[in-house]
Amino acid sequence: MTMQNDYLENTFGLGGKCALITGSSQGIGFALALGLARAGAAVVLNGRNETKVQHARDEILAVLPNASVHALCFDVTDHEAARKAVDNFELSEGPIDILVNNAGMQHRSPLEDFPAERFEALLRTNVSSVFNVGQAVARYMIGRGRGKIINICSVQTALARPGIAPYTATKGAVANLTKGMATDWAKHGLQCNAIAPGYFETPLNAALVADPEFTSWLQKRTPAGRWGKVEELVGACIFLSSDASSFVNGHVLFVDGAISASL
Ligand code: NDP
Repeated sequence: MTMQNDYLENTFGLGGKCALITGSSQGIGFALALGLARAGAAVVLNGRNETKVQHARDEILAVLPNASVHALCFDVTDHEAARKAVDNFELSEGPIDILVNNAGMQHRSPLEDFPAERFEALLRTNVSSVFNVGQAVARYMIGRGRGKIINICSVQTALARPGIAPYTATKGAVANLTKGMATDWAKHGLQCNAIAPGYFETPLNAALVADPEFTSWLQKRTPAGRWGKVEELVGACIFLSSDASSFVNGHVLFVDGAISASL
């Protein structure tokens, strides 16, 4: 029994590791931060709103009083701000072993009316952010010869839906950027992978959750027959953060109740 526990701890445990999760003041990012903290990692929360990030920190500490929970507020679309925040953290607190590029946004509108400014904002928030924070953290990981980067894609990485063409484009780009990261950085000991969530109840999806017609469509369209619960993304994230995935690189792991597997 002890040997089994040691094996699991050595393979999947995250004790002694530190994980930065962007956009973790709510929704999927918060659930992943809590899950990684439960697996033993120190976690670094991020978002633009300091009050929300502090509240998220308090929530994790209320559940896990002994957890190490940091707050690092910066805008992921700002290349310089991301670099400075990561530099300061690495110098003052220590290495970031795991990066989860989760921060993202959505805007729904028919493509013919889609505001150009929102298109640019989607590119900056969903794609440039992955480059900005990924490069800032990878420079340290490369020096150490190890590190884990997990980018949050979407079922829209593989499939389009009406009214969200630009979001679909950004999530396709994140999948290809993940492959590029793995291609450039595997030789430095980094594993760069992605998780593609299906439909999960979060503030980002509040309009869809509130729409009974959408929920009814989703229940029929998803073979699992329901919305995902954010905790159901944690196992994939622990796997991709741990030694268990030491030869998994450039992979996009769909966690979507089989929606992307079926017509
Ligand atoms: P939410 O809108 O609930 O949360 C987004 C988080 O990102 C917040 O903490 C927000 O905090 C932060 N954020 C947004 N913009 C920035 C920025 N420029 N800089 C720093 N932080 C930022 O989203 P979800 O939890 O639903 O989604 C998280 C990720 O998962 C996104 O990449 C999304 O595309 C993806 N996804 C979600 C799915 C779902 O069903 N919910 C399905 C598939 C993918 P603040 O605004 O205070 O900065």
